[in-house]
Amino acid sequence: MIKRALTNVTDMLHDSYLKGHNVVIHGVSIDSRAISKGNLFIPLIGPNSNGHHYSKSAIDNGAVASLWNKNEPNPPTDIPLIFVEDTLAALQQLAGSYRQQLQQTTFIGITGSNGKTSTKDILHSILSTSFRTQKTQGNFNNEIGVPLTLLQLYEDVEIVVVEMGMDHKGDIAFLSKMVQPDIAIISNIGNAHLISLGSLENIAEEKVNIVRGLKKDGLLLFNGDLPLVTTKVKKHKYKHYSFGIHESNDLFLTSCRQTSTSVLFTISDNHFEFNLPLIGQHQAINCLPAIMIAKILKMSNELIQVGLSEVELTEQRNEVKKIGNITIINDTYKSNPESVQAALDTLGSLTSSHRKLFIMGDMLDMGDQDIKLHKQVGEYLSHKKIDTVYGYGELTRYTIASAKQNFPQGKAILFTEEARLIDAILDYTKEPCILLFKASRTLQFERLVKVIERRI
Ligand code: ATP
Ligand code: MG
Repeated sequence: MIKRALTNVTDMLHDSYLKGHNVVIHGVSIDSRAISKGNLFIPLIGPNSNGHHYSKSAIDNGAVASLWNKNEPNPPTDIPLIFVEDTLAALQQLAGSYRQQLQQTTFIGITGSNGKTSTKDILHSILSTSFRTQKTQGNFNNEIGVPLTLLQLYEDVEIVVVEMGMDHKGDIAFLSKMVQPDIAIISNIGNAHLISLGSLENIAEEKVNIVRGLKKDGLLLFNGDLPLVTTKVKKHKYKHYSFGIHESNDLFLTSCRQTSTSVLFTISDNHFEFNLPLIGQHQAINCLPAIMIAKILKMSNELIQVGLSEVELTEQRNEVKKIGNITIINDTYKSNPESVQAALDTLGSLTSSHRKLFIMGDMLDMGDQDIKLHKQVGEYLSHKKIDTVYGYGELTRYTIASAKQNFPQGKAILFTEEARLIDAILDYTKEPCILLFKASRTLQFERLVKVIERRI
């Protein structure tokens, strides 16, 4: 993590001045409750809270200095302060400046609509077998999370894997300029964030903007299954390679088979069968850019496999748990058409004699396309080897209505009360079965999963 004297920190910030002793800070924190001894406290002003009000608690917990917005009253007098115009902008400047100082480190930036966190975890696991590697913790991928990620880096880190997310137009270019990746990855493009960006075309444009911060001699790895992305990537002069399912890609899957706990796959440049302890072909695809980078770094298939065997995904992304004869797949972190399709493909392809139940909640943030996209999920079910779908939510009723027409091989039932849904799921678990839970984060389906796990 960043270790600097306050005078250095002040030099790294625009329009700032130091008042107090020149202590050395060890790391930064924006949360007064999560301060480690020696931290610089960075109080942020949010819509509902003002970090400046928590400076006393930050000092009590071990902060040795703090940034302070010049317009905030009552600055504490017992620790040194660096006064700035805007503490968030200062956090970002400090991170960008610290990144500039880590010239020996290779930075890998990942963006995309789905699969960023999965790809980040897979890549980190592979590279950790051979290099001092750090990655974004959890899903810290926004204008606050990315700078915090950078400021946590050790000075001797060799490779850093940074996830970059997007809420609004311009976010990816901004974050990429801060990270200045040597290698950029676009995991895939889909209908997440339709509300803020309007169209798939705009979403692709935004993701490809990761090149805005890419080093001049940098490398761009992108999912080439969508022609829209390929066309946009080719407009830029960067060296690029594509990956995906289609044979037109520079690296593609040549085989993929599924067990109840892992996916085994081969790729186009050799016959080695990789074994990834996660489920779903989409996770095999997420391995492709990671394997490309590992190969560039001259890692052997065997070593890559060691990394794959140790992959641990961040929570709630296809987490598989077995309780007796019941398998629960918790995929409640987020939902959109592409990740629902990936979930249905995964559930359908699991070879098992047990019945399979898909429990679906709404996909939010779909703009004026929401009803159409929910209906399409019902159509997508048509050839899936799934027994039953339970739907819950205002929009999911369109999925269930469409499934009633397009899913003759199974049953589709809509629930309007959570208690009834829970009873029905518990009833289902009286026989061995596989349950897959999927909904947008706001629906908090993870609570549902917990209730079911407790009551089975
Ligand atoms: P976020 O924008 O929330 O940070 P993310 O891009 O980091 O999401 P993950 O957390 O890796 O994505 O995965 C989110 C969901 O998308 C999970 O349900 C996961 O199974 C699914 N998913 C992961 N990779 C892919 C992929 N390549 N194609 C489709 N769905 C995917
Ligand atoms: Mg993520």
